[in-house]
Amino acid sequence: MSVRPIRVRFAPSPTGPLHIGGLRTALFNYLFAKKNGGTFILRIEDTDQSRYVESAEQYISDSLKWCGIQPDEGVGATGNFGPYRQSERKEIYGEFVDRLIATGDAYYAFDTPQELDELRADFEAQKRTFTYDSNMRGKLKNSLTLSKEEVDRMIKEGRNYVIRFKFPEDDVIIMQDLVRGEVRVNSSTLDDKVLFKSDGMPTYHLANVVDDYLMKITHVIRGEEWLPSLPLHVSLYKAFGWTSEMPEFAHLPLILKPDGKGKLSKRDGDKGGFPVFPLQWKDPVSQEISSGYREAGYFPESCLNILAFLGWNPGTEQEFFSLEELVQSFEIEKVGKSGAKFDPDKAKWYNHHYMQVKDNESIANEFQLILKEKGIEADLKLVIKVVAKVKERVNFVSEIWDHADFFFQSPVEFDEKVVKKSWKESSSAILNSLIKLLESETVFESSELETSVKAAIEKNEWGMGAVMNAWRLALVGTSKGPHLFDIAEILGKEETINRMRKAIEVLS
Ligand code: GLU
Repeated sequence: MSVRPIRVRFAPSPTGPLHIGGLRTALFNYLFAKKNGGTFILRIEDTDQSRYVESAEQYISDSLKWCGIQPDEGVGATGNFGPYRQSERKEIYGEFVDRLIATGDAYYAFDTPQELDELRADFEAQKRTFTYDSNMRGKLKNSLTLSKEEVDRMIKEGRNYVIRFKFPEDDVIIMQDLVRGEVRVNSSTLDDKVLFKSDGMPTYHLANVVDDYLMKITHVIRGEEWLPSLPLHVSLYKAFGWTSEMPEFAHLPLILKPDGKGKLSKRDGDKGGFPVFPLQWKDPVSQEISSGYREAGYFPESCLNILAFLGWNPGTEQEFFSLEELVQSFEIEKVGKSGAKFDPDKAKWYNHHYMQVKDNESIANEFQLILKEKGIEADLKLVIKVVAKVKERVNFVSEIWDHADFFFQSPVEFDEKVVKKSWKESSSAILNSLIKLLESETVFESSELETSVKAAIEKNEWGMGAVMNAWRLALVGTSKGPHLFDIAEILGKEETINRMRKAIEVLS
């Protein structure tokens, strides 16, 4: 491991909402930094203005904040290596690309997009793939094939050009990846990627490597989709003479569809009814809304657990980790290289767990918002009691209503099927007797009620089922709900008796 102070960066491009894969990259960077006493930096890679989406940066910051993985340095924080938005660093990159031209590691290319498209089509027609590589560059319009005078003239005339990296010929590039071990590739077939364009903007590759160097990044932790760029990045470090400052690389495994067949996409989420974005996103152009974990009712704690296990495994039986525990346990060596299947049921299961361990008051506060939307103003103390009773039956706060509506409104109607099964000839008489008994109760508390009601059932030989089913129907309107004596206690004496009277009136 490097002896330099650990510095990692999360470097998203603000082209739309952050996919959960991106958030996982942020999380693993954060965990690695915190575990090793390092710094977690947020850098915004917005050099590709054609794909820039204005609200995306805010979305990224909000997502990190929601999960509690805030940058120590960079956009949204301070730091000595700024600015941290690449669009604000434009003037930095020209000097670096000039250095590569001077050393012969990069060259001007004047092929127009149309010319390249035609070449691609020709190749395709012959079932070959066109690559601007060491075999092809000698036949194309660039500073390797044109005279210096001609190149100077074309630049002077304002002809559009790009600057491409010149991969060495027939060189074996050896790379080390903390997840995958040694990776080797022959340079001859590698695309001489564009580093810089005549509009003065660097491409992702140049800006990314230069900034990692200038920001003293020690470890690059990112998604597997960037692995094909690694030979170029490593070669750039060599070309600049920065090999001793080169970061270590770790490419995180892909996140796969639930059936393991291919990368997890937004479409899979739409189909399976689960979000693939941390927060809800409204597309600024199409106005299309994509669901988010936060709005779907996931707790940030669940989200962190879901993300942590996408590719990482502690190697123990422990399933639930707080952020602090993740920091303690995280080791990049325990990240696997095979794709991680996303399991929507497991995601819900995590939320169920955090629902049980979360304090009832905070759940009640959230549930009160749902009640408000329904026009119900309920006392927080009552809501807390209700939450405590029903939360083991739900995965999300939004599901509480279905299990607890009767605490907040008396039954509007009685479930016909249940009436048929539970309301007998004798039910009115029994409930009337029960009302008398309840009226005389001084302590209207679940276990006290249970003792005296059960004694009455036994004494009068009413039969347990006959009493409890009819009584539940009266209080709830159907056969659902928690322990009936608990319901009575929460409803209180007056409401309990009112509901029983109403049922007698309606059902007899
Ligand atoms: N801007 C790249 C992205 O959007 C960063 C890749 C990297 O971390 O090098 O993912």
